[in-house]
Amino acid sequence: MAGIRQALLDFVFPPLCHLCRRHVPDAGALHICEPCRTELAYIGQPLCTICGEPFAGSGPDHPCGTCLTDPPHFDTARAALIHQGGARTLIHSFKYHHKTHLKRPLALLITERLADHARHAACNLILPVPLHRRRLRERGFNQSLLLAEQLSRCWNIPFERQLLRRTRETIPQAELHADQRRSNVREAFAVADPAMLAGRRVMLVDDVITTGSTANECARTLKRAGARAVSVIAVARAVSD
Ligand SMILES: [Zn+2]
Ligand SMILES: [Zn+2]
Repeated sequence: MAGIRQALLDFVFPPLCHLCRRHVPDAGALHICEPCRTELAYIGQPLCTICGEPFAGSGPDHPCGTCLTDPPHFDTARAALIHQGGARTLIHSFKYHHKTHLKRPLALLITERLADHARHAACNLILPVPLHRRRLRERGFNQSLLLAEQLSRCWNIPFERQLLRRTRETIPQAELHADQRRSNVREAFAVADPAMLAGRRVMLVDDVITTGSTANECARTLKRAGARAVSVIAVARAVSD
């Protein structure tokens, strides 16, 4: 019945592509038309088995030089897309233009691309990267929390919105040089109730992985509080400069 209703609605109000706003008669759940979809820069293999940084060329996955010399606190980090073009546009509208309905296609891009990885990581708790109270008041919502909620529903993994907290304000990582980012987020997070983390395998959700400093500091905090594993999942990752 729901299927017929949706088909009728699509006939009367054909869905618009989230990127080019053209009608997409056969948009599927993603609502991104085929031409826009083919322009998204999906991350494929080969990549770093730890931080997920893609490598040029072909060959097997392997740890990157950075992960070998300075291993991160998280066990793995993966993103569906490179943060450029259509992916950047979608995430920007989602975060800065209050287009919160974009949480669905963005979460869908993650579940389509990273289902195998998520299964392998065998997480039993989903946590969003928290925003500081003041940033939350300004924006009105935490984009990572909206994504985490979608992933929790889709993958049927419990989700806690308040367990990991941001205890002090930090400068937006995008405004800083790579070498300033680690100290910017140092000791900026805390776990409200460590007992809830004991032995848990955490999926930490963020919208964009920039240098991984934020995810790494969250992972450090979570592991210190008793988490057994931390896998970072994001919509997109910045290309390293
Ligand atoms: Zn389009
Ligand atoms: Zn790496």
